[in-house]
Amino acid sequence: MSVNNPLAGWFNRMHLPSDVAGATARQASAQVRSAEFKISELQNRLDSLSLTCMAMWELLRDSGNVSDDDLMAKIREVDLRDGALDGKVKAQRIAECPRCGRTMSLRHVKCMYCGEANLSQKPFDHAG
Ligand SMILES: [Zn+2]
Repeated sequence: MSVNNPLAGWFNRMHLPSDVAGATARQASAQVRSAEFKISELQNRLDSLSLTCMAMWELLRDSGNVSDDDLMAKIREVDLRDGALDGKVKAQRIAECPRCGRTMSLRHVKCMYCGEANLSQKPFDHAG
């Protein structure tokens, strides 16, 4: 459409919002595809971890030292450590520094105030 056309300004004004809407829709669609991909990756990782956990449990149980009831009791005990029987566990993220007594993050390898090494890290401090 020519610039000299008296309808050009009207045309552009009337179509600009739909162009913006189209771009917004395309951006939203791309974000949805990205989120779906991430969910699919997480599902694959969860499936793999569940399979590994199940295999490890069966090896342990079949060694004859523990039963399914023992596992269920331990799951309940661990679940209740954060005060809620909800099938989830929240990791403890802070502790008191043994040297200076200040609060320190369990994620840090040493106290940010006095430099004391964080020797209290446990295998699942970063889980949950
Ligand atoms: Zn300290």
